[in-house]
Amino acid sequence: MQVPFLDLRRQYASIREELEQCMRDVFDAGIFVGGPYVHQFEEAFRKLCQAAYCVGVGNCTDALFLSLKALGIGPGDEVITPAFSWISTSEVISLAGAIPVFADVEADHYTIDVTDIEKKVTGKTRAIIAVHLYGQPSDMDALHRVCEAHQLDLIEDCSHAFLARSGNKPTGNFGRMACFSFYPTKNLGAYGDAGCVITEDPDLAARIRKLANHGGLIKDEHQIEGTNSRLDTLQAALLAAKIPHLPGWTQRRVSIAAIYNERLGKLPQIQVPAVRQGTYHTFHLYVIRAEQRDELRKHLRAQGVETQIHYPHAIPFEPAYKHLTHTPKEFPVSARLQDSVLSLPVFPELTDEEVQYVCEQITVFYK
Ligand SMILES: *Cc1c(COP(=O)(O)O)cnc(C)c1O
Repeated sequence: MQVPFLDLRRQYASIREELEQCMRDVFDAGIFVGGPYVHQFEEAFRKLCQAAYCVGVGNCTDALFLSLKALGIGPGDEVITPAFSWISTSEVISLAGAIPVFADVEADHYTIDVTDIEKKVTGKTRAIIAVHLYGQPSDMDALHRVCEAHQLDLIEDCSHAFLARSGNKPTGNFGRMACFSFYPTKNLGAYGDAGCVITEDPDLAARIRKLANHGGLIKDEHQIEGTNSRLDTLQAALLAAKIPHLPGWTQRRVSIAAIYNERLGKLPQIQVPAVRQGTYHTFHLYVIRAEQRDELRKHLRAQGVETQIHYPHAIPFEPAYKHLTHTPKEFPVSARLQDSVLSLPVFPELTDEEVQYVCEQITVFYK
């Protein structure tokens, strides 16, 4: 059996007619940047996330960058971000002219460790970018406490956490702003790059919209310098068509995770993902920690099972941050994770048989 890590063609096949109708509508309307489809998507996504405002932008990296700019963060400021994440969360801090300061992640939930944040806060710290890694909400109570104590702004990176919840509140409702990626492989994926920011604050929403559109909302009027980072009309229309499917797709991810947990939880060599109490983890990725990770991965590949590693290097150890001379001792959990995590296939169209096959092959490996 061949089990792909992710096969986007299966999703397309399941909603082909709806998507092709969308494409025809957009081409018939002849508007490809802005227009009613973008507005309709922003409204639908805002409601889905129970947020007051949604601004579509070019991608999530821009969403994070524009959020920092909207908060006025720049040279002389420090922003704390997890050592174990995708590089977007730290590179945007440098891009804004500020200094990225890394905090380690929690050993059990892999999200930013607030006790380490407390050690890294200085008089220059302005904000925290928290990532709800793999779909697991960060420790929102602890983050709120540390933000309040030190007057810090919280930005949530929700790229992995569509429809995840902490208590009854969906992720994205805890910080000043939350950023989403619609990169094709994400739980709500576009057919190219796309992203957005949600917020409760009308001024921040207006500021991001301006910054993303050359500093103005009206053509040929530039109140500030900005950039070009808009959500394409075609992507907006396709994303809007996918929104009604997202709750069902999310439930299916959670069911697949339950099958994996049930079978792999019995193996002493495997640590299945722990879900923080009181949260709803939506499994953008199903990540185990495995003994002999690289050998297991090779075995699975030989048996037709594709896996990935998120992430093979903690961010401070990437060549891009060599100048900061960070050592594994400073980020012990991240250093351990990079050598032991393995992402198994999880996407809504994966069949039960495929999931069982993956479990079987892992069991065989450790026998
Ligand atoms: C995908 C991803 C991003 C970047 O999103 P783009 O839309 O590709 O810019 C940022 N943060 C995390 C955690 C991601 O997984």
